[in-house]
Amino acid sequence: MLVDTHAHLDMSEFEADLPRVIQRAEEAGVSTIMTVGTDPASCRRTLEITEAFPNIFAIVGVHPHNAAEVGERDLDSLKALAHHEKVKAWGEIGLDFYRNLSPSAIQNERFRQQITIAKELKLPVIIHSRSAAQETITTLQEERAWEVGGVIHCFSGDAKTATRYLEIGFVISIPGVITFKKAQGLREVVKRLPPEGIILETDAPFLAPEPHRGKRNEPAYVRFTAEAVAETRGQDISEVAAITTKNARRVFNLDKR
Ligand SMILES: [Zn+2]
Ligand SMILES: [Zn+2]
Repeated sequence: MLVDTHAHLDMSEFEADLPRVIQRAEEAGVSTIMTVGTDPASCRRTLEITEAFPNIFAIVGVHPHNAAEVGERDLDSLKALAHHEKVKAWGEIGLDFYRNLSPSAIQNERFRQQITIAKELKLPVIIHSRSAAQETITTLQEERAWEVGGVIHCFSGDAKTATRYLEIGFVISIPGVITFKKAQGLREVVKRLPPEGIILETDAPFLAPEPHRGKRNEPAYVRFTAEAVAETRGQDISEVAAITTKNARRVFNLDKR
């Protein structure tokens, strides 16, 4: 059994065939999917999806790309939404200085505000960080994010950065990128991660792993990522499935009612 810890099932790419996408995930052994909203409207659609499927859970928050579009009132309404029993984490939040779709000062402000909210709600935080590792680590430390911990989603840094995140209470989520030929750096990191520090994700509809690279990604494909992690670490796929599922259930408190 596998967990896809990060997908965007509310996106328009899944509008036409979501029930079939979810069925294919189940057939591929993906027992649980965490689906992530990126702005208030997306979070409401995300919750509707989780209400329709028992093994799909929600992550709500404002993506750094959308930081400039939302105000304090939006954050308040999301906070109210987060009391829903299907919400298991707050995110994805963080800093994206690669695409810079919102000004960096606003990204920083929303990031800090949302760590505070997650701590109030006692929800783990899901971190999106691109070209901003040092700033992300500093903010997580200053805002005492270890009180809730969480996930560094779609990890792409070096081994030293991964170690810093582990030290401050986060686990590392490995995307389908690990199947790409050029991802030698990521494979070196994955080789060295402690077993309790790894979880898996698709980030569907983005970043489809080989052999589906360039096409729409979907939760069933997390299996290819699990296979690549197993090969990289010299482990059996069943072992990788067992530890990553156990880690995901712990981080998202899925066994607690
Ligand atoms: Zn992201
Ligand atoms: Zn995402």
